Amino acid sequence: MRAQPAASHFVDGAFREDTAGPVIRSVYPADGSVIAEIHGATPAVLDAALSAAVRAQPDWAARRPVERGRVLLRAAEILRARNAELAELETLDTGKPIAETLVADAASGAEALEYFGGIAAAITGQTIPLGNDFAYTLREPFGVCAGIGAWNYPIQIACWKAAPALACGNALVFKPSELTPLSALALAEALAQAGLPAGLFSVVQGDGAVGAALVGDPRVAKVSLTGSVATGRKVYTTTAEGLRPATMELGGKSPLIVFDDADLEDAVSGAILGNFYSAGQICSNGTRVFVQDGIREAFLARLKARAEAIRLGDPLDPATQMGPLASAAQTERVLGFIERARAAGARLVTGGTRRGSEGCFVSPTVFADVTDAMEIAQEEVFGPVMAVLGFSCETEVIARANASPYGLAAGVFTRDLARAHRVVARLQAGTCWINSYNITPVEMPFGGVKASGLGRENGWAAVEHWTRVKSVHVGLGSVDAPY
Ligand code: NDP
Repeated sequence: MRAQPAASHFVDGAFREDTAGPVIRSVYPADGSVIAEIHGATPAVLDAALSAAVRAQPDWAARRPVERGRVLLRAAEILRARNAELAELETLDTGKPIAETLVADAASGAEALEYFGGIAAAITGQTIPLGNDFAYTLREPFGVCAGIGAWNYPIQIACWKAAPALACGNALVFKPSELTPLSALALAEALAQAGLPAGLFSVVQGDGAVGAALVGDPRVAKVSLTGSVATGRKVYTTTAEGLRPATMELGGKSPLIVFDDADLEDAVSGAILGNFYSAGQICSNGTRVFVQDGIREAFLARLKARAEAIRLGDPLDPATQMGPLASAAQTERVLGFIERARAAGARLVTGGTRRGSEGCFVSPTVFADVTDAMEIAQEEVFGPVMAVLGFSCETEVIARANASPYGLAAGVFTRDLARAHRVVARLQAGTCWINSYNITPVEMPFGGVKASGLGRENGWAAVEHWTRVKSVHVGLGSVDAPY
């Protein structure tokens, strides 16, 4: 097996095995080969991870923030030094092309470690003058936190949670998706090598039941999930029962609006980036592409030409631009959406088929003449399938863009910057792009509104979701008691 880790879990500073847990096979979706065989966490493994976190966290929180930051900065260097190896691991686990994983996965994770390592020492409270008295606030960690990841950006998701959680003085027990269990172990190893004390970042493997057991454990003070809306509802219900905070990075059906005056080539680039990168398996994708009447056919012609030039193939070949979907189940699901869109009367502009005889490849697919009521305009596909809809005026497109239970992201392409800002201000979305799409620098908060989520990752906003505020009033005079 090409990517067998030292053991299934990383708990209390070391790899740990428990063969009593159910077998999980990690499959390379380009050819169906098994690249690693691990075991899901037993209750004993989960308990060991949580006990270690409870033990280690107070000392970590009591350290000088600059020391915590230094550990994260060293871990970032280790990830960067191992980038090529981690990129290959991520490609084998997810099927994403190496051209992407070399630049977007461990590299983005390293940036999160750098950013939060860099600001760790700047996380402070306020002083509040009160005349003769004063008050101050402390930004305290929650304690032991749980992170749960999806399968599309495994190491990035692990870093986007671990870096701010640890910078703020928390411990984190992380459960990756059972489809992509491997790179979180590499992150745990890198953090340990960087000097992170044992117990502060543990990785436990398993399915939704392990995730549910982790979330439900009373030792967990805060939960951060990246996953589907359905899972988000379950996890948030559990945390609500315990009145514990949660960050939810969930799915979307984001609008990308192209006005007549947009730079056509840039708008096509945005739509391609926002639908076909990572074979379309990105939560913030602009999968409802609204194109104004005047340029729609020109837009579709360029889109078709460029989509058909995308090189699908061996994900380990540096020239490959699109790999397979992450699993056979996801491939069947995506092909089902395509069939139903055709049956509903959407016009297939390009793609629409499985590619090749083995692996989970689906051609980049564009549907035109999509109407708001069609399933393809309402449901998250999570595959390389773009729906193009028409519109005539600004007011109309804003109303239609907002007519969705989701609100993760949105994009606007126009040369009229006054219009761009006016439209963005009215869009119900947590993250918006003007004349760009799917750019998620760690400095910029990321997250959704409505059914797409709660809380924010990245930027200073993440600090507010990995700490809680304690207020301290200080009386400097005599106490004025009424009785
Ligand atoms: P899922 O919701 O199926 O799974 C997400 C994680 O939750 C997995 O680790 C899963 O375990 C776990 N899980 C499942 N059930 C439970 C439960 N009851 N309690 C606790 N944990 C549970 O999502 P996918 O992995 O299929 O990822 C795709 C989805 O993630 C899409 O909807 C996408 O939009 C969203 N996503 C959102 C992002 C964002 O930042 N907003 C980014 C990336 C993806 P397992 O699957 O291993 O059984």
